[in-house]
Amino acid sequence: MLVQNLRLVFIGPPGIGKGTYASAISRIYGIPHISTGDIFREEIEKQTELGKKVESYVKKGELVPDEIVIEVVKNRLQKEDCKEGFILDGFPRTIKQADALEKFAKIDLVLNFYAPDEVIIERVSGRVVCPNCGAIYHLKFMPPKEPWKCDKCGSKLVRRPDDEPEVVKKRLEIYRKQFAPIIEFYRKRGLLVDVEASELADKVVPKIVKVLEEHGFPPPRSAESCG
Ligand code: AMP
Repeated sequence: MLVQNLRLVFIGPPGIGKGTYASAISRIYGIPHISTGDIFREEIEKQTELGKKVESYVKKGELVPDEIVIEVVKNRLQKEDCKEGFILDGFPRTIKQADALEKFAKIDLVLNFYAPDEVIIERVSGRVVCPNCGAIYHLKFMPPKEPWKCDKCGSKLVRRPDDEPEVVKKRLEIYRKQFAPIIEFYRKRGLLVDVEASELADKVVPKIVKVLEEHGFPPPRSAESCG
């Protein structure tokens, strides 16, 4: 059984785990997880007409023009799998997009994930990878047996440039600036629910389910578990 019309927007800073939460909620409630960033990356990969149009913006980390994003989301939400609901992730990012969305879809709730900067920085900057075999570790949550050494091939582990603490800090600042008006937009409409997400996903996902339940959206009975 699918839940009736659960139309969500997820907002949260980079590194908070929003994608993980969205995938889990998508599975539990049987509604699609729609990430505009993922859509653009796929289109670029396939070099479609849309992909070619948005490539330069995405590669530079600049916003894709509103008209293009709005059209993409509008078309996506008309697909059959969105009939019972959806999770929007990465959209809206501008007031123009939020205004447009309001005209073509009803939104039931907007979940605003937050955590102290230190927690996010620790989470993101703890991520290290093996440049040789691609194995991924977390210095705190999934450490290699020997510090900075790959368990599988013994190579020295590295941190991706994007995960350096200074870079993460900068991305958090950009996020705050970009999303403050959107958060305000939905808070004013009484749709915003703040969700503290300092803990790991196995704790945050059940918390999200509880929040949804409290707002009249219990998980469908067929959902196996909310873990
Ligand atoms: P994300 O994975 O959400 O960080 O998105 C990756 C990139 O896709 C962004 O840096 C933008 O270039 C583009 N993008 C994704 N969503 C939007 C949006 N709602 N408005 C404008 N550009 C977007």
